[in-house]
Amino acid sequence: MTAQIIDGKALAADIRKDVATEIADRKQRGLRAPGLAVILVGDDAASEVYVRNKRQACEEVGILSAYHPLPASISEAEVKTLIERLNEDRTVDGILLQLPLPDHINSDTLIETIHPEKDVDGFHPYNLGRLAQRRPLLRPCTPLGVMTLLDNIQFQYKDKHAVIIGASNIVGRPMALELLLAGSTVTVCHRFTKNLAEFVKQADLVVSAVGKPELIKGDWIKLGATVIDVGIYRLKDGTLTGDVEYKIASERAAWITPVPGGVGPMTVATLLKNTLSAALLKDSV
Ligand code: NAD
Repeated sequence: MTAQIIDGKALAADIRKDVATEIADRKQRGLRAPGLAVILVGDDAASEVYVRNKRQACEEVGILSAYHPLPASISEAEVKTLIERLNEDRTVDGILLQLPLPDHINSDTLIETIHPEKDVDGFHPYNLGRLAQRRPLLRPCTPLGVMTLLDNIQFQYKDKHAVIIGASNIVGRPMALELLLAGSTVTVCHRFTKNLAEFVKQADLVVSAVGKPELIKGDWIKLGATVIDVGIYRLKDGTLTGDVEYKIASERAAWITPVPGGVGPMTVATLLKNTLSAALLKDSV
């Protein structure tokens, strides 16, 4: 068997085009363009690249992005004050607080300061709670991006055993909630799981979000399974790789995402969609 490749780059481009069309249409109807405030604390090189990509993507689709670069030495209270000001600002539909934050700042406190209806990353406990209670509002971008990829290949969730590897607040846990909501039977594995191979071997759907290259061996993949690799790891030679031993896995799976070009572009496209959704939420009140 040779797996079909799930092309996240192409699907993300389609989503961006749809978002751009919808925003152009809004503007024609006299409504304002959605606004996204982007907060970056410190000068982490990877975060700077992520923020640049997200802002560029905003510009391309017509979302107004306001950039708030802050020095690493800033206090938590000062960032909190900025977020509170952005919460009140009617031109700001979404607030993106780029993680990780410097050690002296508590990210949980700041995430909770963001108004849930402006929480376009979907990390606020209110939004995660809504997802857990089957009434999602703004949903975490990476897991929602994965669901869009799966919907696009018409993945049949209901009789499937999904095994997620990784249990972080931003990927693994909300991924489990999304798949549960869609009707799959869900197992979540993490750093304390014994016999990881035994779980993966049972999976109709594998979603790996760890960040350890080739943690998931290709010969663990059940014949005909769907494999979604969220992991991103930069090798010494600069190339990006995922968690899954891709070559062997793609000889066993029916569908597989590449790294790069799989989940990554969907995360950014979903952020744009969430920002548009947040603007629509505001229009409706
Ligand atoms: P994290 O470090 O917060 O969480 C990693 C998880 O992996 C933890 O739950 C941990 O228990 C688990 N884990 C660690 N070692 C393990 C092992 N040996 N066996 C099983 N589980 C193990 O990371 P994160 O923020 O959730 O990100 C995970 C990966 O996904 C990273 O590579 C990150 O770069 C990538 N990521 C990609 C996107 C994207 O858009 N493609 C978005 C977010 C994160």
